[in-house]
Amino acid sequence: MPRKPSEPWAKDEGGSGIRDAWERGKAPEELKPLVVQHRMAPGISALPNRLYYGGVLQDGDGVEDEAELSEWFSAQPPFSQAITRLDHTALETWTSSIARGQRSSRCNILAAALTVDAVSRMLRPDRPALPEGARPRVLVMSPYRPQAELLQAMLRCRHLHYDAAAGTPHAFQGSEASAVLLDLTVAAPHYRAGIFSSEHSEGHRRLLNVAITRARRRLVVVGDLSFLRPKAGDSALGRLLRHLATAAPSRPDVRPILRLTPEPDLGEIVARAERYVVWYVKDPDNNGALAESIAGAAGKGLPVLVITDPRRMTRVGLRGSALTQLRDSGAALMQKDSLREAILIVDGEIVALGAATTEGWSVWKSGAVAGLAASAHQVAGLIQLVESGRARCERCDQLLLLREGDHSKPGLYAQCSKCGRSAGSIGRPSGARHRRQQAAL
Ligand SMILES: [Zn+2]
Repeated sequence: MPRKPSEPWAKDEGGSGIRDAWERGKAPEELKPLVVQHRMAPGISALPNRLYYGGVLQDGDGVEDEAELSEWFSAQPPFSQAITRLDHTALETWTSSIARGQRSSRCNILAAALTVDAVSRMLRPDRPALPEGARPRVLVMSPYRPQAELLQAMLRCRHLHYDAAAGTPHAFQGSEASAVLLDLTVAAPHYRAGIFSSEHSEGHRRLLNVAITRARRRLVVVGDLSFLRPKAGDSALGRLLRHLATAAPSRPDVRPILRLTPEPDLGEIVARAERYVVWYVKDPDNNGALAESIAGAAGKGLPVLVITDPRRMTRVGLRGSALTQLRDSGAALMQKDSLREAILIVDGEIVALGAATTEGWSVWKSGAVAGLAASAHQVAGLIQLVESGRARCERCDQLLLLREGDHSKPGLYAQCSKCGRSAGSIGRPSGARHRRQQAAL
């Protein structure tokens, strides 16, 4: 039977063939169905033990010792328990599909921001620097590669990339760290994500198992749990979430974890824009001062695009509405269904995220972060529409409605809100065809 070195106890205990055999109910008689693990704190090992190992996992000596955290880990809540659930339902995060070659993948920018800010809250400001080449203290994982890339860029932006590394669980097979954060990434409007299906359940089960068993002392699961739990049903993810509810009953308020910049500072960033401003916003009237700054950028002749909820469009033309002011100063307006939190991208250099229920903005001054956010939201294609004067229907001059394709047709496309004429796909490579989602997402 081939050994699977990804299993943490395979080295010491004769290989995960034991587990495979055990699961098939065919363990050889000379093998005792008992496996000792020396990595995870008991609060963490209980989770894979119940979920994946049928209770045969035993904790070795020393797994309760927290000395490895003493120099650098912040004792502040909410990360004092072995497992923490960071439920960001209240932030109303938003997942985008990303065309990746012939397949689609996902990213959720606000969830990534929360995850990285959670890493920074775990690290004591006075911690000693890690020696050159030391393994990171924290691993940050997402099942989706674009999200893992965004997480890595955000870690770098916050100067956390020595303490922490981001990647997919696949990339971290065989690794371990004192703390692991698993960013589940999927949120509205992605009701049909592959990870909800039981079709690839074995692949997803392995992926989630690898992720949670990398953690030595702290495991943090980040997700829009109110969205995920009913959708995930009896899939591998659904079972994980049900067990987590018991293993980590408390769900701290995640909002204080985000590092936020007050709105006036954002106005100053917009005032310094040189190339373009793109603002996805559910209700611009809720951010009147910022809308004024953005109108100012449009008034200077910069390409400015404001994408908002179709229901707000009735306010275009009303005196005093932010949309009227934006339109009159030369901003292009488009509409998109199911908008959630706000995303502002300036010059491809700065991205700012506004959650539905927070004051202030999560600001990332990084070309790498802004570039990934811009490509997730097809900003280059949208700016091209604005600059070529095609931001309205060519036939009837109505506003365009942006829609996100599903996994069979990933990416953003635009159509006329009146006659339905398609303005084509935006920034999506032509000929991208649906291919069934694989376990490695
Ligand atoms: Zn039309």
